Amino acid sequence: MTSNVFSHLRLDGTMVTDPAATALAAADFGGIVNRPPRAVLRAGSTADIEAVLPVAAANNIAVVPRGCGHTSLGQAQALDGLVIDLTALTEVHDLTEDEVTVDAGATWNSLLARTLQHGLTPRVLTDYLGLSVGGTLSAGGIGGTSHRCGVQTDNVLALDVVTADGILRHCSPSELPDLFHAVLGGFGQCGVIVRATLPLIPAPARVRRVKVYYPTIDELLACQRRLLADGRFDFLQGEILPTPDGWVYMLDVASYYTPPHEPDDDVLVAGIGFVAARDKIEDLGYWEFATRLNETVTYLEGTGEWQALHPWPNLLLPDAKLDAFMSEVMADLEQADLGASGLILIYPMTTAAFGTPLFRLPEGSTVYLVAGLRFAMDAAKAQEMVAGNRRWYDTAVSVGGTSYPTGAIPFTSADWTRHLGTAQAALAEAKARYDPSNLLPRRFA
Ligand SMILES: Cc1cc2nc3c(=O)[nH]c(=O)nc-3n(C[C@H](O)[C@H](O)[C@H](O)COP(=O)(O)OP(=O)(O)OC[C@H]3O[C@@H](n4cnc5c(N)ncnc54)[C@H](O)[C@@H]3O)c2cc1C
Repeated sequence: MTSNVFSHLRLDGTMVTDPAATALAAADFGGIVNRPPRAVLRAGSTADIEAVLPVAAANNIAVVPRGCGHTSLGQAQALDGLVIDLTALTEVHDLTEDEVTVDAGATWNSLLARTLQHGLTPRVLTDYLGLSVGGTLSAGGIGGTSHRCGVQTDNVLALDVVTADGILRHCSPSELPDLFHAVLGGFGQCGVIVRATLPLIPAPARVRRVKVYYPTIDELLACQRRLLADGRFDFLQGEILPTPDGWVYMLDVASYYTPPHEPDDDVLVAGIGFVAARDKIEDLGYWEFATRLNETVTYLEGTGEWQALHPWPNLLLPDAKLDAFMSEVMADLEQADLGASGLILIYPMTTAAFGTPLFRLPEGSTVYLVAGLRFAMDAAKAQEMVAGNRRWYDTAVSVGGTSYPTGAIPFTSADWTRHLGTAQAALAEAKARYDPSNLLPRRFA
């Protein structure tokens, strides 16, 4: 058995090859593609990863790092290769009043629980916190504060990375910047992130959350643009929701505060079409707000949709083309195209705070994330949705849009090349330097 090539290694973790273990790593949250690896390293230390990579290279075994496996189309799978599962590496190392160093396998949930003990928080949190630090830093990491702070990859001070040769390297914007910029948003193509140092800020104690339900998308977009410009809210998102009476367009915004500096609700909702009988203002603790999706997850577990298939597309659109793009998407969209609990996320972001070279943005100072949360109960429906995703992507590209490629949009290497655009040359150079034998995935042509 090929996994025996690792048997001489003394590992802190375990190298597993049994069908139950490989079946887990063969799947992901999307549930659409299934590619069994020949072995899974459940890394017990950074040293395990340093030891395993040269052996994999010598035996021509492809390697893919994996966090929580929440991609939608097999991005963290390695057919007949070796998956390095980082989820046991969760330690929080140095934690000071303005930064933290954490293992890549820690979830944002566990990291936040720890930093809040000191009254601190990362600047950008994903909506769902059950994602690994290494996983979202390999993708981007969009959250409700991204309109101000960029994505999570824009908020990293330094990384420890094991490159394909098995060498542990420390990198930052000033130390091995080529590696730093090739790993952030790089989907594991140049090395395995094992630790990240992230800036922290004082956490607010409380959150005033406002939800406004508009009957038209034009009203939602007009309000989002206005709020993006006036900066009134710390957290800025939106959703398109199906109801028995048709689509509803929800503004979801929040203002962070610590008593006694309480926001004035009248000022918060001024000029945004807030109707007290229809809309909602609630006051939550910051942790309660950050973990707000737990309730939804429990609901979806109950309906079986959490365990179902998730062909989720993520697109980024230039503001100038958004209205036309959404008209086209919404023209013939039915609830069945999203599934029973499906919805569309629609988040505006100014790009001033964005700077990760591999997080590919459309042109312009304002861009929108448009993400379809689709639920399919069988493979045929999932394939239909994936084909629909690809049509959305082609339309988006034709108007200058890009993808946030964690989702279920089939990508060829030519698509990756187009996606990477001017960032490809630096990535290719880093790949040649840190992974010349393409041990880790090479996604671009
Ligand atoms: C319920 C749900 C909610 C989500 N919410 C958000 C959200 O709010 N914001 C957002 O931006 N995204 C969100 N996503 C998308 C998510 O960020 C990505 O799907 C990513 O997969 C999350 O991290 P993970 O730990 O699951 O990574 P994985 O799926 O395990 O890996 C993602 C990619 O990174 C690579 N990788 C993983 N770990 C490492 C590492 N340590 N070093 C190098 N490469 C690595 C993998 O090979 C793969 O290519 C969500 C997805 C789901 C299913």
